[in-house]
Amino acid sequence: MASLNKKINIKYFTGIRTRLTIIILCVTLIPLGLVGFWSYNTQKEIITREVTASHIELSNTLARGIYENLEYTRRLMNSICELKFIQALNPEVSKDFFNSLMRHFSLFKLMYLIDSDRKILASTDSSVILPDDWLFSKAVKRSYQGSLSEVRTSLDGPPTMTFESVIRSPDLGINGVLISEVNLSSINELLKESLKNSKSQGLVFDEVGAVIARSDESAGISDVAFSEVVDSDITNLKTINGESYLLTAVSLKKFDFYQAPNWTIVLQVPERIAFAAAYKFRERMLSMFGLTALVSIIIAVLLARGFTVPIGKLVEGASNISQGNYDKEMKPTSSDEIGELTQIFDEMRINIKNTKAELDNKILQLSTLYDVGKAVTSELNFVKLQNMILDMVAKFLGAEKGSLMLIDDAEKTMTIGVAIGLSDDVTRDTRLEVGDSVAGWAVKNRKFLFVKNVEEDEEFLSIKKQNIKSGTLMCAPLISKDKIMGALNVSKSTPNSFSDSDFELFVNLANQVAIAIDNARLYRYAVTDEMTKLYNHRYFQQRLDEELLRADRHEDHISLLILDVDHFKHFNDTYGHPEGDRVLKAVARIIEKSIREIDIAARYGGEEFVVICPEKNGAGALVPAERIRKAIEAYDFRINGVHVPITVSVGAASYPDNATTKAELIKKSDTALYYSKENGRNRSTLYNPIMVEHKD
Ligand code: GH3
Ligand code: MG
Ligand code: MG
Repeated sequence: MASLNKKINIKYFTGIRTRLTIIILCVTLIPLGLVGFWSYNTQKEIITREVTASHIELSNTLARGIYENLEYTRRLMNSICELKFIQALNPEVSKDFFNSLMRHFSLFKLMYLIDSDRKILASTDSSVILPDDWLFSKAVKRSYQGSLSEVRTSLDGPPTMTFESVIRSPDLGINGVLISEVNLSSINELLKESLKNSKSQGLVFDEVGAVIARSDESAGISDVAFSEVVDSDITNLKTINGESYLLTAVSLKKFDFYQAPNWTIVLQVPERIAFAAAYKFRERMLSMFGLTALVSIIIAVLLARGFTVPIGKLVEGASNISQGNYDKEMKPTSSDEIGELTQIFDEMRINIKNTKAELDNKILQLSTLYDVGKAVTSELNFVKLQNMILDMVAKFLGAEKGSLMLIDDAEKTMTIGVAIGLSDDVTRDTRLEVGDSVAGWAVKNRKFLFVKNVEEDEEFLSIKKQNIKSGTLMCAPLISKDKIMGALNVSKSTPNSFSDSDFELFVNLANQVAIAIDNARLYRYAVTDEMTKLYNHRYFQQRLDEELLRADRHEDHISLLILDVDHFKHFNDTYGHPEGDRVLKAVARIIEKSIREIDIAARYGGEEFVVICPEKNGAGALVPAERIRKAIEAYDFRINGVHVPITVSVGAASYPDNATTKAELIKKSDTALYYSKENGRNRSTLYNPIMVEHKD
């Protein structure tokens, strides 16, 4: 049983709620995450493609614009070189013309004219000097190759570019060079104008990586080498000053422009700006992810509650059962498999409860039977036994009324031995013939009777036709070794208040009781004098031994009375032996009625009787002695209607005052009786040491 009471305590490593949450999270978040990730990457790819495409388109436009810009200057220079005074290398006119040009074209920063001896003939700036390595021959060669001279980027102003145009006079041939430093800020303007509505930044680098134009002063300068770009465009991600850029680099050389410089156009846009939409999408996606996770968890918890709450109840109910608590009803809270399981569990609980109740009842029955059996087999006093039996039976069955009926030796008449809940008159006067009424029927038919409702039971109504009081009753014939001894009845005033198991117990009890009664009866026969129904001599001797031992144990007194009917021989002789027997029976009844319950009366032999009076000393013993003697003297014994006086003589002695052994006690009582006889009879005498011992 100890293991049953142990509290069940299992730790769930992954409870239903956790598992459900994980499953729902997986089902919702994994596809969402994958779709989100894929969409984000696709968006980035599309953006990259679109940005690159727009960069390339823009750079093409820009390249054309830049080329046209340069071409315009070149052609302007060529036109100037065709002027007559230029061809004639006229210094004054040229100088005036240059100054006039400078005023009208802001792009010219410096202009001067050189003859074939590297001599500056006319200049807008008198301080200008030719670089040492500048050779006329090289200038002529460059003009044939169509290349422009290098770009100079000045620290204080916009970058400039040197244009050279060879002067050919119709008669003299190549005789000078027109050199002009041209302001390239117009390219800057062009860049700014083209990228006005774009998020991209534009830069133009020359061959050695110097910045020629920049759409935005803050635009980062990448380390794109001209050599990388010359063959094919670059479109990739570059990190500039720690920031990642989407960059497209296009060489001016890719176009089939005449005399195009080795410049590179770079269009770039910081990733964070280019991918702003993708980033925003990613942010939204993450919020959505978080929201979905939250909603999923809530749904999982709610769903799990749908499982765990009924399961929790089921677990609680099962644990109640495991701990032996079968009274708590388990109500299904859902109409699913768990609900069905709960229903089944509850049926199981009821079954276990009923089985347990049945077992408990059986155990109670068995222990009751054992108790009754133990008690009744140890009690041999017939009256006490009957009382005990009826008390126990009524108590165990909760009966309000009960009676134990005994049958006479001839097995004809039944009288009530003991009763509960019946009036003394009824108990004393009830006398049934075998076959009469309920108990008589049970005895006659040797059948048990269980009437659940006396007003409705047809068999009962056919047995008992009058004096029917509502209620329920059970009646058992008392049979031992095939001998019928009487009947046991119990009843209650509420119909149907005895159960089938009560009846089962009743049947078993009745069988036990019958055996006990039979035993007690046999014992009674063994210790009873058949004629007077008092105890016989043998029993008297046995009881006296016991009582003397008890007196010793309790240091108490005990007295013994011996009675002898006076002149009984004469009585017999006068009225005959049968009348003598009647006298002896009457005397026995009078003795019985005159003594206490604890006193033991027995027939000593012939017309002599004895009474053991425990707890009485000598003087005290004369009280019952006298009571008996007087009662017999007063008894109206009649023969043929004529009173015949009967008297007895009594002798009393007490232990330990007058005797120290049983034999001595009997002897001393007998001496006292002899004294009574000697001194006129019909008297009681207490032993006295002066008395002469009686000898037969
Ligand atoms: P007393 O005792 O007064 O001296 O005179 P008694 O006549 O009673 O004397 P005794 O003891 O000599 O006689 C006893 C008689 O009791 C003898 C016997 O016939 C009679 N008796 C003994 N047992 C029975 C019995 O069971 N039935 C009848 N009817 N008489 C019995
Ligand atoms: Mg005698
Ligand atoms: Mg006598």
